[in-house]
Amino acid sequence: MTFQNTLQFAQQLDQQDELKDYRNQFIFPQHNGKNVIYFTGNSLGLQPKSAKTFVDEVMSDWATHAVEGHFYVEKPWWDYHERFAEPLSKIVGAKPSEVTVMNTLTVNLHLLMVSFYRPTATRYKIICEEKAFPSDQYMFQSQVNHHGYKPEDAIVEIKRREGEHNIRLEDILAKIEEVGDELALVLFGGVNYYTGQVFDMKTITEAGHKVGAIVGFDLAHAAGNIKLELHDWNVDFAAWCSYKYMNSGPGNASGCFVHEKHHHSDLPRFAGWWGHNKERRFKMEPSFDPVHGADGWQVSNLPILSLAPYLASVEMFAEVGMEKLIAKRNQITSYLEFILHEIDKEVNSTFEIITPSKQEERACQLSVFLHGEGRSLFDYLMKNGVITDWREPNVIRLAPVPLYTSYEDMYNFGQILKQGILNH
Ligand SMILES: *Cc1c(COP(=O)(O)O)cnc(C)c1O
Repeated sequence: MTFQNTLQFAQQLDQQDELKDYRNQFIFPQHNGKNVIYFTGNSLGLQPKSAKTFVDEVMSDWATHAVEGHFYVEKPWWDYHERFAEPLSKIVGAKPSEVTVMNTLTVNLHLLMVSFYRPTATRYKIICEEKAFPSDQYMFQSQVNHHGYKPEDAIVEIKRREGEHNIRLEDILAKIEEVGDELALVLFGGVNYYTGQVFDMKTITEAGHKVGAIVGFDLAHAAGNIKLELHDWNVDFAAWCSYKYMNSGPGNASGCFVHEKHHHSDLPRFAGWWGHNKERRFKMEPSFDPVHGADGWQVSNLPILSLAPYLASVEMFAEVGMEKLIAKRNQITSYLEFILHEIDKEVNSTFEIITPSKQEERACQLSVFLHGEGRSLFDYLMKNGVITDWREPNVIRLAPVPLYTSYEDMYNFGQILKQGILNH
């Protein structure tokens, strides 16, 4: 499609947008009486209007039924999390028994590493991406230390080549092969949080398995954003947070995937009563008999008040389906890219999009390196109702989330950006 940088053209795209009505199902912060242009759904998704209804239902069940709410309300709490299995499995390309929700993301990655990072004297190394999300870096270091290895020896980061912004697949594969017999675990992001680069999880998983390693993914920026086929790709395990693209609310629960092939294994794990055989959970037996499925990694009874808004969101995703989301995501991200290039030409600026330009290597985020402008431009955008975020040294990240951003937002953003640069 040939794009145009005009209000009329943007509005025309909005009219043709199959998902346009979803925008009204979200609550936008206001700036001068209008919706802000929200580009930070990759950090904290907007609140769906239905979230409050789901939370109110739990509050009301608690008020009227108290402890009986565990069993005798419309959505009983004791197996509330099981309502996620079906819709979530579709979002991440899994079987319902392979997914569950619990805890928070870093906690879950730690718990999953208890099962899936089993270093031996000769096979103890972890491969991850350079500039992984800081929490992941701390996690790797503490896990390696916990097992008595040295981070500088045991953690192998795949680096970008000099002068390049993204990691090459060939470099990942070459390193996996090189570390070979010493490789215990590959644990990569599905989408890099900084550049928005999407990694080829299928090929990475195959390569890891070929040298005898376990392969897992941190899907914080991938879940609800890209097409995932975790089961078919034969990924061993994965986890994601729900408050970014999945709009579940600040700091909210994490989702986990454990491949079916591990459901009957005797992998060690840190257990708790919610992972115990469902039929016998309340018999309070002394020995642990895990559920055969991702639910077997559950520990505590679940925080129902936080699951409620997550469930509201998951049901919306189930209704839309990933296909439609991805189709709009591709088009609106390309439109944003076009607008950025147009403005760049008009004002003779010098910013650079560091996110891969190939459709299959990016999703819903464009990271823009501001060579000339810097922090003052970011501040200008924020003052003018454009919510983006700033990452050192000089990058703003723009995520036009397909469920609730409009093409008109992209056009308006371009005009504000242009003013910001001209005023500079
Ligand atoms: C956002 C994010 C996290 C956050 O972890 P929490 O435990 O939810 O605070 C972790 N890893 C990645 C890659 C992220 O993008």
